[in-house]
Amino acid sequence: MRITGAVLERCGAPVPYVESRPVTVGTLELGPPEAGEVLVRIEAAGLCHSDLSVVDGNRVRPVPMLLGHEAAGIVEATGPGARLAVGQRVVMTFLPRCGQCAECATDGRLPCSVGSAANGAGTLVGGGRRLSRAVPSGAVPSGGVQDVHHHLGVSAFASHAVVSETSVVPVDHDVPPDIAALLGCAVLTGGGAVVNAGRPAPGDRVAVVGLGGVGMAALLVAVALGHEVIGVDAVPAKLELARELGAATAVGPQEAAEQGLRAPVVVEAAGSARAFETAYAITAPGGTTVTVGLPHPDARASISPLSLTAEARTVVGSYLGSAVPSRDIPRYVELWRAGRLPLDRLVSDRITLDDLPAALDRLASGAALRQLVTF
Ligand SMILES: [Zn+2]
Ligand SMILES: [Zn+2]
Repeated sequence: MRITGAVLERCGAPVPYVESRPVTVGTLELGPPEAGEVLVRIEAAGLCHSDLSVVDGNRVRPVPMLLGHEAAGIVEATGPGARLAVGQRVVMTFLPRCGQCAECATDGRLPCSVGSAANGAGTLVGGGRRLSRAVPSGAVPSGGVQDVHHHLGVSAFASHAVVSETSVVPVDHDVPPDIAALLGCAVLTGGGAVVNAGRPAPGDRVAVVGLGGVGMAALLVAVALGHEVIGVDAVPAKLELARELGAATAVGPQEAAEQGLRAPVVVEAAGSARAFETAYAITAPGGTTVTVGLPHPDARASISPLSLTAEARTVVGSYLGSAVPSRDIPRYVELWRAGRLPLDRLVSDRITLDDLPAALDRLASGAALRQLVTF
């Protein structure tokens, strides 16, 4: 079938993206769902920092690639053997779990090796690609058809997507598409960093360094679970929002150090070495620093090994919030239903596919929280 989608043509284009235009919106051909796959009509898709990391070259992926990995939609068709029914609303998640490999048996601590390999290659977990397009005019060789890579098994910046059933989690129709989309990356990652990796004891203070979509979701989940929360970010508007969302304290990184703030569980969600150092510095003796951000592969941080030993500290890396999406998403839905997880507050803008270059610029500048593409 014919679909409209936003394709990244090259990694590492210079900012501003409204001028360098690395993302083009055009017509693609989407193959039918194969065994264990579903065709989903996309209702809402969030623009995440991990999309920006592919655009700016921090995470090099094969191109051309149809971006977007945080989304919700309605199943419109199913491939052979698929369990989901047509009409079901689903949350799309960016790391398929095959359920068969050794990593899938680690309760979310390790990402599925089969899903990770497919994500790296830009294919679906079942193998191959369902996306193709006519070779753009001006490209060499011109004419003919080229495959387009999938982004993290989802490729949701499009009217429709074909995905593996292991990349989606069904949700009831009372969960609106905007909320459902955010559950797939921001909430799974941020919330999971707190509950799966940090595991604060009841009443423990929780600090979050880096208040983007993932960090703010971590803050919301920690507040919902009754923890006193410290928010740390360099952008004053984000500190203001953190206070509105229930943070007891919201300060810049410098102030956090000067005031000697400490918490037994600290989540780093900025994806920079400096933020990691800040998170480590404000972790209390005996405490746990959880790092969930994705810095550039060459980034290096400096910490004191002595403090690790003498203060009996723990540093934990958490990919996708150490989540098992099918287990964790229903828990967040329950918190949302109970009125304790105001996820709508994470949405800073609603945009169309054509707005993506400007939206990427806003994200790169640190000004945006979650910008949702709606259809
Ligand atoms: Zn994401
Ligand atoms: Zn697996």
